[in-house]
Amino acid sequence: MQFKSHMQAALAEAEAAARRGEVPVGAVIVAPDGRVIARAGNRTRELNDPTAHAEILAIRAACAALGSERLAGHDLYVTLEPCPMCAAALANARIARLYYGAGDPKSGGVAQGPRIFAHPQCHHVPEVYDGIAAEPAEKLLKEFFAARR
Ligand SMILES: [Zn+2]
Repeated sequence: MQFKSHMQAALAEAEAAARRGEVPVGAVIVAPDGRVIARAGNRTRELNDPTAHAEILAIRAACAALGSERLAGHDLYVTLEPCPMCAAALANARIARLYYGAGDPKSGGVAQGPRIFAHPQCHHVPEVYDGIAAEPAEKLLKEFFAARR
């Protein structure tokens, strides 16, 4: 099967989040057969829920759709480097591959900060591909925060 990036769908979720006044981060989960089975953007403000990050919402939706607590063989695309909470959730969900866009020096937990997947206590380590469509993801975030100042 040919590799198809689903980062455009994640970027569309990030744009939709920005329009709702949420930090523009979007995520999609792709099943082993290539179908997108969940998509989400940040909803922390709307839901009054600090855990309502795009990745968490996408994982919940995918697990609910599958009737399973695990997403073995599934891929997650997210526009921004996951924070430590989301990285831990990805490991718990047994996500096979993580594709992310922009690095996050402030809150990232994969390539910097706590580097969740590098800990021996992390029982599942996905393959990680970074820098996928990093530029548009970064631009969205910069515009969002510039408009708030
Ligand atoms: Zn997060």
